[in-house]
Amino acid sequence: MLKKGSKLNSILTGSCPKCQKESMYEDKNPLHLGKVLKMNENCSHCGFKYQIEPSFFYGAMYVSYALNVAVGIAAFIVSFVFFGATIEQSFLAIILTLVVLFPFVLRLSRNLYINMFVSYDPMAGRE
Ligand SMILES: [Zn+2]
Repeated sequence: MLKKGSKLNSILTGSCPKCQKESMYEDKNPLHLGKVLKMNENCSHCGFKYQIEPSFFYGAMYVSYALNVAVGIAAFIVSFVFFGATIEQSFLAIILTLVVLFPFVLRLSRNLYINMFVSYDPMAGRE
């Protein structure tokens, strides 16, 4: 499922969407919050420029919004339906889940977004 060349691989690992040989991020760990959005400018393998155009990643906000809604609904269903929580507890669970997953959602949305525009190229980075 995570084999090189699949979009899922780049989306889940945050690797270069073109060659998938290295991470787009300066710090691979999204839990280092100070660096969660720090990206390298170019891929050092294939030279692909991540910021395709100025403020390219603003569009990722819409993806992150959709993801957050999905996460919120999932948190609600799990707490309310499966754990039998009250409405108040379920809302608390939603907020907690969103806060905890925030850095992951942030990166995932960027990874998803750039992969909508860029496809894997097995020849990238090979001269
Ligand atoms: Zn690359």
